[in-house]
Amino acid sequence: MGSVSIREARKSYGALEVLHGVSVEIADGEFVVLVGPSGCGKSTLLRMLAGLESISGGEIAIDGRVVNALAPKERDIAMVFQSYALYPHMTVAENMGFSLKLGRRPREEIQDRVGTAARTLSLDALLDRQPRQLSGGQRQRVAMGRAMVRAPAVFLFDEPLSNLDAKLRVQMRAEIKQNHQRLRTTTVYVTHDQIEAMTMADRIVVMNGGRVEQIGTPLELYERPANLFVAGFIGSPA
Ligand code: ADP
Ligand code: MG
Repeated sequence: MGSVSIREARKSYGALEVLHGVSVEIADGEFVVLVGPSGCGKSTLLRMLAGLESISGGEIAIDGRVVNALAPKERDIAMVFQSYALYPHMTVAENMGFSLKLGRRPREEIQDRVGTAARTLSLDALLDRQPRQLSGGQRQRVAMGRAMVRAPAVFLFDEPLSNLDAKLRVQMRAEIKQNHQRLRTTTVYVTHDQIEAMTMADRIVVMNGGRVEQIGTPLELYERPANLFVAGFIGSPA
């Protein structure tokens, strides 16, 4: 279903190479966290998975199919951004159903899928509200709902919690994990927060300067860091 294979992926902006051959194999249903300092290339790699950036070298395959040349809408993925980017003039329900409407799905199916996602995300009572009437956490849930209604093979998250306060962040982490346990959708989750990585990941990919330093379970990285960078990164507070 949603396996992801990244083989020697490279990215250059003009003469500047920012990803120097990144390889990661992700199994169907896995929750993988990309972690590393600001500027190390996490968002670039995620945007390449989503089809929002071209791939300068190497290969990316989703469910065994090479997607290098495919447009975003031809890939079976949905991305949740840090800055939610909700449509301000639409209700919660309209926001959540919009991509399905664009895809010309029947109205009953859209209602059905929006209703199911709204129940999962505890948004049932808010479907008629507009984004400006919502709290930060509620907006974040709507952003997730928009991805969820599409039932993609892969979810991509780019620092989805970094605009929330600490208490809400902890709550939303738990919610995202619960949803993953229910849906088992392959997830690639970007954060620069080590605690988020350690508590959420099946496996963590530690990146630095456009390269992968180590891939492993939280316990493996904690007990057997491959080098001083990983040891320092895993050991330091967020
Ligand atoms: P991260 O998400 O890990 O903070 P990014 O993927 O955003 O890192 O950026 C990786 C590197 O690529 C950085 O050095 C950044 O300045 C550079 N970069 C990102 N987008 C562009 C762009 N559109 N043009 C030029 N350089 C870019
Ligand atoms: Mg980023």
